Order: sequence, then structure tokens, then C-alpha cells
Amino acid sequence: MQRETGFCVECRDVTSYTLQKKLVKKMIRGEELTFEITCAICDRCGEFMSVPGIIDLNVREVDEQYRKLKDLVTIEDIYTLMKLYNIGKAPLSIVLGFGEITITRYLLGQVPSKEYSDVIRNALFSPEYMEQKMLENKDKIAMSAFKKSMTKVNELKNIFTVSNKMIGVISYIFERMDEVTPLMLQKLLYYIQGFSFALNDREMFIENCEAWVHGPVYKDVYNIF
Ligand SMILES: [Zn+2]
Repeated sequence: MQRETGFCVECRDVTSYTLQKKLVKKMIRGEELTFEITCAICDRCGEFMSVPGIIDLNVREVDEQYRKLKDLVTIEDIYTLMKLYNIGKAPLSIVLGFGEITITRYLLGQVPSKEYSDVIRNALFSPEYMEQKMLENKDKIAMSAFKKSMTKVNELKNIFTVSNKMIGVISYIFERMDEVTPLMLQKLLYYIQGFSFALNDREMFIENCEAWVHGPVYKDVYNIF
């Protein structure tokens, strides 16, 4: 392993150092909490060294551990939410009932309150919740932004009407086949279910198909694709 070096103020020299974990206490929002951070120890004198990047690393470590401890959403969660509903930070902020720049501040690193964090998490896990929020604040955002996100809400609502087992089977089919038309997908699902009954004497997924003119159709799956 190659040893990193830095300037040790105690030794007044460039020395190699070892990274170690250390517990520190910090006051955050009026509460004393313990965090595990990384520090650089001079291999020659054993004193702490300030090496490039270590402060940024410590800030990230404390932030991550604090969010975990308080069960708060992360910056990545917010980016996922924006992607999921195809919505920008300002409209998202308004839709969720926050101030216009609240989400922007969270993306820059400000830690949300538990209350706001839960709103973000609910939106992330429930398209119905997001839809409700969107309808509540419909008039406060541009119509185009509203429509764009509403399309995503409806797509996601459809996906959640299908069982996990069905989603698993569909993913498997998409993985194995280069091109799948909606009709082919329906036929495959029908055969898979049939084989499951024939070979294993049980269903593969709980969905039932309907008899349509062009063959058996799993309606919820059909609605998604
Ligand atoms: Zn030293």
C-alpha cells in the first residue's frame, strides 16, 4: 500500500500519515451527538495532521451519520424524486408546500427538518401522495410543469398496481429479449403463467388475464406498456 504524505506542523516536515477513525461529539440543533470521523495521524510524531480534503470528508461523514440517525432524506433522494416525477427544484418545492427555494437549499447541503424530510420521503414512495400534493398546489406552478409531472405520477401509479412478482417476470423478459412488443409480452406472460401451473402446480403471479379479441391480456401490464 502506498503511503500518503502531507506536511506535519509538529515535525515541520513532510511525513507519511495513517488514516484512522475517531469519535467526536458535536452539538447539532441543541443536541449533543457522537460521530465517527476520519483523521490523519502523523506516522512520525503521532499528532493529528490537516491534510487536503480531510475537512470536506469529515463534513460529509457527519452529515451522512446525522441524516441516518434522524432518519432524514439525503441529497440523492431529492435528485431521485426530481427525476422520478420529471420536475425541477423550484416547482417541486412549491408542489410539496415548501418555499420556492427550499429544495435548492437542501440540494446545496442544508439538512431538512424531520417534518419536511417526511414529506419528501412520502412523495418518493407514494405516487398517490405526490398526486395529492400536486393537485393541492396546481395553481402555483406552470401548467406545462404540472402536466409533465402528472404524466409521471400516472405512469408510476400504474406500475404500483402490478405485483412485485409480475414486475420481476417482466424485468426478466426485458433482460433476455432484444425487442418485446406489448402483444408479445402479453403472450409470454400467459405462457409463463400456464407453465407455472402445469409444472409447479401454482401460479407465478397473482394477476389474472382477461380474454380480449386478440388474445389473453393482463390489463394492468397492458396499461403500463
Ligand atoms: Zn509529525
